[in-house]
Amino acid sequence: MQEKIKAFMDEVRSRNGHEPEFLQAVQEVADTVIPYIADNEIYNGKNILLRMVEPERLISFRVAWVDDDGEIHVNRGYRIQMNSAIGPYKGGLRFHPTVNASILKFLAFEQVFKNSLTTLPMGGGKGGSDFDPKGKSDDEVMRFCHAFMAELFRHIGPFTDIPAGDIGVGAREIGFLFGMYKRIQNEFTGVLTGKGLSWGGSKIRPEATGYGTVYFAQDMLLTKNDDIDGKTVVISGSGNVAQYAAEKTLQLGGKVVTLSDSGGYIYDKKGIDEEKLAFVMDLKNNKRGRISEYVDQYPSAEYHKGKTPWEVPCDIALPCATQNELNGEDATTLIKNGCICVAEGANMPSTLDAVHTFQDAKILFAPGKASNAGGVATSGLEMSQNSLRISWTREEVDERLKGIMKDIHDSCIEHGIEADGYCNYVKGANIAGFVKVADAMLAQGVI
Ligand code: NAP
Repeated sequence: MQEKIKAFMDEVRSRNGHEPEFLQAVQEVADTVIPYIADNEIYNGKNILLRMVEPERLISFRVAWVDDDGEIHVNRGYRIQMNSAIGPYKGGLRFHPTVNASILKFLAFEQVFKNSLTTLPMGGGKGGSDFDPKGKSDDEVMRFCHAFMAELFRHIGPFTDIPAGDIGVGAREIGFLFGMYKRIQNEFTGVLTGKGLSWGGSKIRPEATGYGTVYFAQDMLLTKNDDIDGKTVVISGSGNVAQYAAEKTLQLGGKVVTLSDSGGYIYDKKGIDEEKLAFVMDLKNNKRGRISEYVDQYPSAEYHKGKTPWEVPCDIALPCATQNELNGEDATTLIKNGCICVAEGANMPSTLDAVHTFQDAKILFAPGKASNAGGVATSGLEMSQNSLRISWTREEVDERLKGIMKDIHDSCIEHGIEADGYCNYVKGANIAGFVKVADAMLAQGVI
């Protein structure tokens, strides 16, 4: 089997050798799905996985825009349309200086499996730009978003490709992007998700990824007759996912002790309660400040510059910032300090080394494609509401979200339980996600 996996990866590497993040994501899927394909004759000899690693379409374009001083800047825009076997492409847009084809291809590839797991009819895609919204005025962000959409509009549509937010793309950016799409197309359609509540957005969409991650952690703990109540929780990031992961943790009785950004992390031994979290939300969402400012407001907390929070003792870790933010050494430290459960809110925040360390120690570990799927699932619910021209209540959406997270958890258990009873959630998520897409591809012929 190892030879088969190696031969497959050699072929993928020969085409994508310069894309380390993409190869990392493919390796993780190949390790679990190739043995499954070998055991299931219907998938044999069809090169299904080889087809799945090749994007259906990769779009790259120039985005020229003018700053407040009249200077012209050029950024690169992308949309990766990875797989549309089970529905139109769906996945976020990321605006961050590190964005490149490798990062977006890894995200688009993961998105295919994630969207399949939600049980909703959504294919996988991802896009974005190397534009950095940090330090830009609202007008500059608007001009960039308008210029970006002035090209992207021709590649997307409510039945073709429905982008959403991701790092650097929140409610403000979605508003500007939607405004330009509507202006060019002269139609009001659900072509983007994460819209404002008064113009087609779904209740609970901003909260969904963070809430869903915590629901998933709760489902995992339940398999051990345990729960979040009374647990100490370490969270990285302080953006959309981290904020709402923290909020749901508090609601379920957990104690959140850290948050971070790319500058470092804050450690509040007393716990980040509702009031402190409201301060962080205002700081990050309205003032666009840095997490280091938390200690000016709450001086008993500590700020650890240039570090990640994995050295802080905890029961549960929720990495909610970015890819590869938690390595093998961090995983060893977490386990040594008593961590029993890790649920990824971010996409691929754990390196392969870290994943293997968690699994070797047999602790509960959920990959992002399962545990953070609540965001895209609720985007799917936003699409349904837009099509039906109705708006569900907060309670209705939250119930659906909880149900979807539980279904994803059940799928992981179905395909991930190993001989000794340990649930390998990575294997479970990869196989469950693969089966639905592969079956659709087989039914549709060689495409
Ligand atoms: P966000 O609101 O832009 O927040 C991102 C957070 O991560 C910020 O605190 C940011 O700090 C930090 N961060 C970004 N790059 C970093 C780096 N290189 N090193 C350390 N910290 C870094 O984005 P988000 O929506 O919360 O997304 C966070 C993660 O969740 C991403 O992996 C995203 O793909 C994933 N995700 C998001 C959704 C969603 O619905 N939003 C759904 C599924 C998965 P700075 O402010 O210093 O940059």
